Amino acid sequence: MALPAIAVAQDQPEVVPEIQPEIPPQAVAPTATSFTPAEGEVVPSDPPPIASAVSNAIGAAFLTDDERRASRVYHGVWTEADLATPALRAQAALALGNWHDASLDEHSASVEDRAEARVLRGEFAEAFELLTQTDSLRASRLRGEALEALGRSEEAIAAIKPALDQLSDPDLPAEALLEVVRTWRVHTRLKGTMGEALDEYKAINALLQEARNHDKLAWPIRLAEAQLLVDKDNRAQGGEAALEALTLNPRAAQAWMLVGELAVDGFDVDQVESVAKRLELNAGGSTVSSAAMLARARLRLADAEGAELALAPARERYPKAVRLLALSAAAAALAYDEPAKQRWLARLAEVAPGSIEGVLAVGSALAEARQYDLAPPYLLQASTRSPYRPEPLIELGMMSLQAGRDMESIDALTKALKLDPFHARADNTLKLAQILAGYDRVESEHFIVRSTGPMDGLLAGEMLPLLETMHARVAGSAEGGIDHQPRVKTVIDLMPDDRAFSVRIAGVTQIHTMAASTGPCIAMSSPREGGGRRVGTYDWLRVVRHEYVHTVTLDRTSNRIPHWFTEAAAVFLEDAPRDLRTSEMLNEALENDALFGMDEINIKFIRPKKPIERALAYAQGHWMYEYMVRRWGSKAPLDLMDRYAKGERQNEAFAAVLGVSQDEFFSDFQSWAREQAIAWGLGQRPGEPTLRELLKAEMTPEMKSPPPISQAMIDRWLAAHPEHPEVLRSAVQLALKSNGGEPTEAMVPLLERLAAARPVDDLPHRMLSKLHLASGAPQRAIAHLEYLDIREQYTAVYAVELARQYASLRDWPKAMEKARRATIVAPFAPANRELLAAIAINAGDLALAERQLEALTIIEPDRQQHRARLESIRQKRPSR
Ligand SMILES: [Zn+2]
Repeated sequence: MALPAIAVAQDQPEVVPEIQPEIPPQAVAPTATSFTPAEGEVVPSDPPPIASAVSNAIGAAFLTDDERRASRVYHGVWTEADLATPALRAQAALALGNWHDASLDEHSASVEDRAEARVLRGEFAEAFELLTQTDSLRASRLRGEALEALGRSEEAIAAIKPALDQLSDPDLPAEALLEVVRTWRVHTRLKGTMGEALDEYKAINALLQEARNHDKLAWPIRLAEAQLLVDKDNRAQGGEAALEALTLNPRAAQAWMLVGELAVDGFDVDQVESVAKRLELNAGGSTVSSAAMLARARLRLADAEGAELALAPARERYPKAVRLLALSAAAAALAYDEPAKQRWLARLAEVAPGSIEGVLAVGSALAEARQYDLAPPYLLQASTRSPYRPEPLIELGMMSLQAGRDMESIDALTKALKLDPFHARADNTLKLAQILAGYDRVESEHFIVRSTGPMDGLLAGEMLPLLETMHARVAGSAEGGIDHQPRVKTVIDLMPDDRAFSVRIAGVTQIHTMAASTGPCIAMSSPREGGGRRVGTYDWLRVVRHEYVHTVTLDRTSNRIPHWFTEAAAVFLEDAPRDLRTSEMLNEALENDALFGMDEINIKFIRPKKPIERALAYAQGHWMYEYMVRRWGSKAPLDLMDRYAKGERQNEAFAAVLGVSQDEFFSDFQSWAREQAIAWGLGQRPGEPTLRELLKAEMTPEMKSPPPISQAMIDRWLAAHPEHPEVLRSAVQLALKSNGGEPTEAMVPLLERLAAARPVDDLPHRMLSKLHLASGAPQRAIAHLEYLDIREQYTAVYAVELARQYASLRDWPKAMEKARRATIVAPFAPANRELLAAIAINAGDLALAERQLEALTIIEPDRQQHRARLESIRQKRPSR
């Protein structure tokens, strides 16, 4: 099984979606639909193969039967017959996560095992009571944990002192050392590290390593190492260590738990389900760990109902387990069920008055759901009550940066890193927040753009007026506008390279996108070639517009909008026609009954099974949104948004606003979509054979496959079906093939027929523009170049050609508009600036020309010629 190396590694789409940005986990919008897979679908994870050293040790000839039995139990490879005594049964039950097994109440079971089960079940007073009888290191650690939960910190610190005093004893046996390390973790939670954090962490690591060298088969040591690594945000190595622990004990529930929790962090929902299933199979029913990982995964998808469904059966068994109560409160918080949340928090306070798990879980879930105002009080409360724990501060710091509250972020992360100098994401985020604080800022009525360096500074200044025009469209009330003003100015961070961009949007490296919105902040990668950028130039205005729709819809709904819906609105408001590939993908999914169901589409943005699924999710969402606007008007989506803002779920909101259930919506949509696909020239037209059928009819009985398409066939088919889109396309392809791929004047009528029959096909427009440009009347290419330009997102070639053509017609306004577009798509290409300057001079707009020459002095500072020309134009307009 593959562990997620880093929380956010995501596949790149193989088909370029209509809009590029992938949303990293931290920036995922909440969804109101439930993600609950059908029963029976989940395959339990298999443990890695057991280490041969373990098999050898168990099989060693010198062992007595009892020793062999004990060894099998220790390594999790026992059979029923091995569990001959209550003590062995209790030990096995504890390892499996089966904490309510009857053996754990038997007096002959070890007192520590019984007490540990009680601590894990949330029966702290009972655990404490049992432990009065014993004085082992493990007992002292368990006493500390019980007292910690009961809120008796001072007593807890006193209780663990004897164990900690042995921290420097180099001769401790492995088991004892492990307990000392566990006790140290209790101490760091209660009082921080005892000395300098860095030294202490290194010392603990060294101890564990030494212990492992002593006893390579001691799985609890490997597990402790795994835990320590995960604590310090080293997930990759932590995952490896947890898997290694499973090779030493394939039934160790705590190792499975770590594997599952890492999968939650990596948004690997399938893996979480599989690991949870494995835990449940091993324990013979719901466990705290399996329920908690399932609930956390579903909370990350904003599926509060699914989380509660996962928690309920485990809570039956373990009504006082702290983790379950904490996550129950978080699920209630995400369902915006205030009374239920209060109830769970109160219950938790009864069981474990000293625990901050409840407020931390609520605060973290709200932070992840981008409830920027609701989350901080809980996180601050957690931090105040447990001032030595870094987690609440890390959550707060990461969230604050996404919320555009840089100073709060810097403050929280600085404090967190004092407590935990090893947390990689916190460290990255703090460094970035400090860098951002030093960026240059330019500001307009609705936007703040931050950038660094003269090139991006140039772009930032040029962005503002364009952004304001875009704002009027997106936030305005004209057809399809969101009709909502965000409460605060939107901050747009122009990041100089991919790495800075990744950290900006997620606090982790390794996400490669161009732009992302976290609500009040939009981060974008500078549209430049080279310098470690995956995407070079791109139509940043279209991309930022897409992101700004997220900003506005998230604001209108207080971040309570289904993921597919904010994406759909965003693509819709790009106001650009879909391209051929997207249209074909949609048509194919429609014909193969492969469109996503209303419960399924949200997850496809976050965790697609195949790369193409994410592209399809964007395209399908857009298509459904378009259908909604056509049938119910452009106010319908806004009314839905207002209902989501109140916490209403999708199905109820659909019924109230659209008068249909989501299933009815989906089936009506598909009928409409079929007509659309036909209008695009892609869907099968009633009463007309498909190309495939036409070809089949050409086959003689002795043919094994259809014959190649010939001109004679085409002529016959077209005589019968003169507007057949597929036949016309074949006709064009055949004609092109016969002329080495080049179009001829004679093909013009055929190309025009194809353009009319397949309006989504760019091929005839590419060929026609090529032909016309080479002819004596190049302006005839304009319509076709416009067709191509509006669909183009990565290069300015069509815009440049259009500008030239309009200029030759002396249509200066249009020439300027196109030359300007070229400077948007490729702002740092000198030729585009030259072109716009020349056109602006011809059009008499000397100010615009001057700005282009100024830009050139920034883009190419070493070329004296730019300065000279700038001086000369300035002299021409002295009154500036
Ligand atoms: Zn988006």
